[in-house]
Amino acid sequence: MPESDCLFCKIIAGEIPSSKVLESDTTYAFRDINPQAGVHVLVVPRTHYEDAEELAKAPKELADVIATGVEIAKQEGIDQSGFRLVFNTGEHAGRTVFHAHLHVLGGEQLGHFGRPGG
Ligand code: AMP
Ligand code: ZN
Repeated sequence: MPESDCLFCKIIAGEIPSSKVLESDTTYAFRDINPQAGVHVLVVPRTHYEDAEELAKAPKELADVIATGVEIAKQEGIDQSGFRLVFNTGEHAGRTVFHAHLHVLGGEQLGHFGRPGG
């Protein structure tokens, strides 16, 4: 998919509105439009990487994405109660947007990993 058609590149560029939570030189974080927990924030690298595999080839930016996720947990006050950092990859994980993104989830007791309803 060309970057010009990428939803999250458009959000980073401000062409599509988002609820900003935090940003850095290399990352941008905003609230998920369909939250799955009391706190549900997405962290994206400003550079377009299609998925976690591509992002892993840029270790500095990968580390920045994770560090931003941890910073958000502190800012949102869920660092002590606990939170989950998730990269969905591929069909079985229900992945829908092809710009690598880290989900930051918390703010309430989360369900278990894995199967639906599990
Ligand atoms: P994934 O299923 O891992 O690809 O996650 C994509 C996430 O992007 C989903 O949780 C969606 O709710 C979220 N999402 C889609 N469009 C937007 C948007 N315009 N603003 C914020 N979050 C969005
Ligand atoms: Zn993109």
